[in-house]
Amino acid sequence: MTIKSLLIANRGEIACRVIRTARRLGVRTVAVYSDADRHALHVREADEAVHIGGSPARESYLVGEKIVAAAKAAGAEAIHPGYGFLSENADFAEAVEAAGLVWVGPRASSIRAMGLKDAAKKLMMAAGVPVTPGYLGEDQDPARLRAEADSIGYPVLIKAVAGGGGKGMRRVNHAAEFQDMLASCKREAAASFGDDRVLIEKYIERPRHIEVQVFGDSHGNVVHLFERDCSLQRRHQKVIEEAPAPGMDEATRAAVCGAAVKAARAVDYVGAGTVEFIADASAGLRPDRVWFMEMNTRLQVEHPVTEEITGQDLVEWQLRIAGGEALPLRQEELSIRGWAMEARLYAEDPAHEFLPSTGRLDHFELGRAVRVDTGVEEGDRISPYYDPMIAKLIARGATREEAIDRLVDTLEQVEVWPVRTNAGFLARAADDADFRAGDVDTAFIPSRIDRLVPDPAPPEGVWNLAAAALLASDFGAGQESPWDALQGFRLNGPADRGVAISHGGATRVVEAGGDPPLEGIATAQGESVLAFSRGQAFAFTLPGSGGGASGGAAADGTLLSPMPGRVIAVEVRQGDKVAKGQKLVTLEAMKMEHSLAAPFDGIVAELAAEAGAQVQEGMLLVRVEKGE
Ligand code: ADP
Repeated sequence: MTIKSLLIANRGEIACRVIRTARRLGVRTVAVYSDADRHALHVREADEAVHIGGSPARESYLVGEKIVAAAKAAGAEAIHPGYGFLSENADFAEAVEAAGLVWVGPRASSIRAMGLKDAAKKLMMAAGVPVTPGYLGEDQDPARLRAEADSIGYPVLIKAVAGGGGKGMRRVNHAAEFQDMLASCKREAAASFGDDRVLIEKYIERPRHIEVQVFGDSHGNVVHLFERDCSLQRRHQKVIEEAPAPGMDEATRAAVCGAAVKAARAVDYVGAGTVEFIADASAGLRPDRVWFMEMNTRLQVEHPVTEEITGQDLVEWQLRIAGGEALPLRQEELSIRGWAMEARLYAEDPAHEFLPSTGRLDHFELGRAVRVDTGVEEGDRISPYYDPMIAKLIARGATREEAIDRLVDTLEQVEVWPVRTNAGFLARAADDADFRAGDVDTAFIPSRIDRLVPDPAPPEGVWNLAAAALLASDFGAGQESPWDALQGFRLNGPADRGVAISHGGATRVVEAGGDPPLEGIATAQGESVLAFSRGQAFAFTLPGSGGGASGGAAADGTLLSPMPGRVIAVEVRQGDKVAKGQKLVTLEAMKMEHSLAAPFDGIVAELAAEAGAQVQEGMLLVRVEKGE
């Protein structure tokens, strides 16, 4: 059968991505949405949309029955799960098929086989796929686990068997810290996955994350679409991905892609999947130093880089295979052309511990130079309920260097306001000399985080740019609102007039054009100027006019909840002495953890945060008073 109508059980950019291909293939699309997503882009783009419940995902996108009922009501023949939410939920896959609908994904049995890390690894060992050395046993007695870690040799990694998304992992460097790490890993695993069992692995030094895109069909064929490198990670979450992997030689490629096909065959795989490997890159990539980590039984966030180098549309492959067709191409018909890079643009503020940033996208300009996969447009809102990813920027080139140049260019021209983004951070990472040299591993970002996080204070040239824009606006009255349609003022010539402007409480008299011009764009409206430069956004005001968005801990020591969320840890007690930068409270919001730190040395004068409590945006959590 050919699928003629499709419900997409997801939201945001992946829902829009699936809709795009469905539309091209003439497939009718049905979106689902929560309260918060009533006006979302995926709803606007679908042929039809069905409301499925409240804003929290557990009231809508995670409720399988509501989604199946929506598909029935809208007369959709098939369900595409996207990624996240119910995409790797075997019970949901079964429920979809039991309702007489087509499931665009692998069989429930394949999802289950790969669902738990320990069982999956045992299966892979039996299938002859190389697996990281470690302990996968049933015996969870702490003494036994410790003995196993001792015999593997430190450092080791403790991993929750039910873990995912980078959670439930602890690196242990010495035997002495094993028990503490084990306890903390088990606590996190129980809280996050409802299962505190762990496995132990040899910790791979200089690890690189290499993964292979695979596809199987219902006729027993399996192919791979080469590898991706996802070593650039922050807190075990992918940030920049590329295909192919830098420094990959033919022998290693054959070994890792061959192992991926073996893994897929071992679980009778149908549809799109990704087999993740960890490589020990301490002596470059080598065929005998790549081990199976896990298999993700869905389409991945980073699938576009594979599409760009193979010229294939992976969502089209998924739909054709789900409709019963054989794989569109044989292995020998697939090849790599050029290089592709993807950067994940997040609504977060790198200068403030990468705290998510929510609100309306008053200004949202990502440029047209590269492929942009997004689920939002200017004027849409970033809500606190879901993942903070706002777009994926995908650049390609004939060579790796060309792809990097295009990605850096694009990132440096990102203009988003007032929602904060990581564009400046991503640009620095992609432009780093070691990254350009292909010298990557998973410690790349953590080891140079200070250099990659841009200074939130405007550079010299941006002050000049802002001053010039302000002066120009005085003489060019009647401009449109810069927040809606940024006309822009580019600094290109020297001027010789001074103007007083403020940013984040600091005021300066600046000569417009007094400094060498800096790449950027600025627009003035009334008493404020908005400047964009190298992916960063800066708001200036006239002195004394107030305003000027700065954000961050209040100068008076009051720490407010920056968004709705849940308090997961309180590290201090009332009356405690604290040092500047000390972690006080940890919040969980938008699927991430965020720590609030003391703004200066002092004493905890007020403590309103309680572990486990839900908090609203702007609620007082802690107040620190300046100490001697
Ligand atoms: P999750 O399912 O939570 O994503 P993974 O098992 O896929 O967890 O691992 C996530 C990341 O953790 C990997 O990309 C890699 O950076 C790191 N990692 C995993 N296993 C090891 C290991 N044995 N040694 C070193 N780093 C590891």
